[in-house]
Amino acid sequence: MNIHEFQAKEIMRQTGISLPEGRLAESVDQAVHHAEAMSRFPLVIKAQVHTGGRGKAGGVKLARSVDEVRAHAQAILGMSIKGITVKKVLIERGVDIDREIYLGLVIDRASKTPVFIVSSSGGVDIEEVAATDPDRILKIPIQPGLGLCDYQVRRAIYFLSIPKELQVSFGLTMRALEQILMEWDASLIEINPLVITEHNELVACDAKINFDDNALMLHPEIEQLRDENEEEPLEVEARHNEVNYVKLDGRIGCLVNGAGLAMATMDLVQAYGGEPANFLDVGGAARPDTIAAALRIVTSDPAVNTILFNIFGGIVRCDRVAEGILKAREMIGLKIPIVMRLVGTNEEKARELLTGTDLVMMPTMAEAARKAVELSQGVA
Ligand code: GDP
Ligand code: MN
Repeated sequence: MNIHEFQAKEIMRQTGISLPEGRLAESVDQAVHHAEAMSRFPLVIKAQVHTGGRGKAGGVKLARSVDEVRAHAQAILGMSIKGITVKKVLIERGVDIDREIYLGLVIDRASKTPVFIVSSSGGVDIEEVAATDPDRILKIPIQPGLGLCDYQVRRAIYFLSIPKELQVSFGLTMRALEQILMEWDASLIEINPLVITEHNELVACDAKINFDDNALMLHPEIEQLRDENEEEPLEVEARHNEVNYVKLDGRIGCLVNGAGLAMATMDLVQAYGGEPANFLDVGGAARPDTIAAALRIVTSDPAVNTILFNIFGGIVRCDRVAEGILKAREMIGLKIPIVMRLVGTNEEKARELLTGTDLVMMPTMAEAARKAVELSQGVA
């Protein structure tokens, strides 16, 4: 789960990381009101959206007067950045930038540890630096049992040539990121840029935190920071129905029980030359109402022209799934072809229910995937 910059900064503030004073505004008037209260200039007006590269997109602007704050807030509120409409701006005290550093901490699946990533080339996309200038990036893996060690902090400090007066606060900033990652089950924390000002202070000018979705149940206060305006609407609806759904770009809507089986189904669709429209796991229970919700979600994507069901009936009974599919199809008035592979508990009953309907039953998942691709491409 992703949160806004202003929310990430609130969390960082509690750990003692040094940040510019800032206030949130949801309208031009509110932005102007904050600017008057903050009184000194320059101020920075920053779009709050769940995406990077706001600077390049015109979503970060410096203002030297109340009039400029008004003009920038007017331009930024309502602007679209990578398809997301800006509804909030952060009004922040401007910082005199001398140097921009990148400081990040991510869970690295390959090394199975958190890894600090530091670079003197801050302020730009770190992926770009990694591609063009990999020597400017230092990675420091943290052994979970030991935590961040002093020698590792020193390595980062020397790599970045942090001036003497700022070395203690730089070390504290690294430790703060480690604490946030561990305490809140974050999967990524990024300060880009971490600024050294002309007055030789260390200030976090941008902040990003991603949380591990699987740990959210342990942190209800994090769940409250969710902003559904920023999320794919179909994925929001899926979450409300306890269905795991990820939208993709293909034409074959896949409905599967079990995440592993869902992945295998998508692979098969690809292997036969098709493109899945989504990942979807209806979960173990797969009640008729969950099936109905899943079918509605998958078919809300206008690109979907064929449905592929792959259900392995263990706890879930095939006849109830078949019933659910028929009911749901009628309810939403679905016309596109449905191909299914339905095996396991009460498979025979399910087959009886479906004979005489135009649902295409295939005996194996490979054949079902191939049939779905054929129908989707119109060569059936
Ligand atoms: P991003 O583009 O979404 O990553 O947004 P950032 O918050 O990182 O802002 C982009 C760039 O705007 C930064 O790298 C800085 O160069 C610049 N910037 C942000 N805040 C300030 C500020 O207070 N003063 C100045 N002079 N520049 C700023
Ligand atoms: Mn940034």
